[in-house]
Amino acid sequence: MTAQPQFITDASLAGLAKWLRLLGYDTVVYSGQAGRPMMRQAQDQKRILLTRRTDMLERQFSGDIFLLPAASTSRQLSFVIRKLTLKIDNENMYRICLICNSRLHPAMRGDVQDLVPPFVYENYDRYNRCESCGKIYWPGTHIRNALQFLKDNDITISVHDHTQ
Ligand SMILES: [Zn+2]
Repeated sequence: MTAQPQFITDASLAGLAKWLRLLGYDTVVYSGQAGRPMMRQAQDQKRILLTRRTDMLERQFSGDIFLLPAASTSRQLSFVIRKLTLKIDNENMYRICLICNSRLHPAMRGDVQDLVPPFVYENYDRYNRCESCGKIYWPGTHIRNALQFLKDNDITISVHDHTQ
């Protein structure tokens, strides 16, 4: 099994980064100016560098770097998925916190009772929690909206049915 690619993006690509996280890809948004230190971090952490800055391509860099088009987040996402032939699988969705990029861990229903709205608690059995920022995720409208968005943008995904 090959390791999942990991990414680092410009601050201007935060929308794209959120989507990559949602699809299960560890993605750091570099908060400073894109430049030498960002490239060093990409190299040290073996992250694929995604940038909107053409001048980044002129610098010496031994890792993988992709210049993203000025386009909507959905087009940028399609671009990355096609360029890197990423496999999109709904089993991998919501493994990474959208807010802080930490790994999510399954949480027991009883443990989140006081932390989620009552109608959510009533309707869902499976939860994931971010150990770093405490955010709790559950399937439902978020996932459905995400799947619809991917479908609308002709992004093919493998879907596993958990309803049986
Ligand atoms: Zn988090």
